[in-house]
Amino acid sequence: MPGNILTDSKGRPVRYIRVSVTDRCNLRCRYCAPSAEFVSLLHSQVLSYEEIERVAAILAPFGVTSVRLTGGEPLVRKHIDRLIGSLARTSGIEDLSLTTNGILLAEHARALKEAGLLRVNVSLDSLKPDRFRWITNSPDKRRKENLGSVLEGLEEAQRVGLAPVKVNVVLMRGLNDDEVGDFVDLTREGNLEVRFIEFMPMGPNGFWNRDRVVPADEVIGRIMKSHPGLEHVGKSKGSGPAVLHRIPGHRGSIGFITPVSSHFCAHCNRVRLTADGKLRTCLFSDTETDLLPLIRGGASDEQILGTIRQALLQKPDGHRISARGALAACARTMSHIGG
Ligand code: SF4
Repeated sequence: MPGNILTDSKGRPVRYIRVSVTDRCNLRCRYCAPSAEFVSLLHSQVLSYEEIERVAAILAPFGVTSVRLTGGEPLVRKHIDRLIGSLARTSGIEDLSLTTNGILLAEHARALKEAGLLRVNVSLDSLKPDRFRWITNSPDKRRKENLGSVLEGLEEAQRVGLAPVKVNVVLMRGLNDDEVGDFVDLTREGNLEVRFIEFMPMGPNGFWNRDRVVPADEVIGRIMKSHPGLEHVGKSKGSGPAVLHRIPGHRGSIGFITPVSSHFCAHCNRVRLTADGKLRTCLFSDTETDLLPLIRGGASDEQILGTIRQALLQKPDGHRISARGALAACARTMSHIGG
């Protein structure tokens, strides 16, 4: 490993940073948003685009070549195409992607692509309008037809050439696991990568329980019943942990992300930067390092990098959510971390 490559406590190289550009969202997904009143950060507490660019530029020469923009919902933050443009021009950044709930994707896709975005992940947990509305619990009751906007966004993302276009489905037993077949059907004509994500305990909103987890092996078994030709084809493009399968004759592919039944911490390659400038070395560890005072306090790039290296030496070897009895694995909800 070249000496200057950023590694963590276990010598795992850090290749990938997930940056939450806002904690705000136009949805309130029941397993993500806090159960209590959602109090968003003040504008002054949120990293500016210039500050995000600076952190990304500090890390890129040390191997962190993949940047994912997340939220809350990143597309609710104004002029995000400007940030994407700067990151796309930042030397050393090779992969630039975004995770969105898709509601605003149709109207932004072309500008994002032209700014330099390469690919997009769309979080979508139901193809049934009423169930979609229930799961997403949208605060804006006037927006009757959010599912339609997401499906339009998926179309437009493919049309403008963002690739691959991935669909992230959090499978929850008894809530949406009866839609596995419908999501698989999306891969017949659509050049989509549909990924089934095991339901993780995130934050204290009490929506998670172990019985709602549908292990990937069970999902594969269900798909094999109707598609016995389902074949394993390897890893998904990008820095993510998804294991890909393909049904002969289908344009798209099917991925499985298994943080509960078969975690991938031994090969973890990521860190997270929250919207308020906290470095989170592990999704499930509440040990965070506040970079904001350094960034706004005149620290040099070397000092900021040194602080990040120190934080990585404290990175846990993995999560403990697979252990029986694990309930809420961390204090922050997903909407504050960016997933
Ligand atoms: S739980 Fe932590 S160590 Fe494991 S893959 Fe996620 S971020 Fe990495």
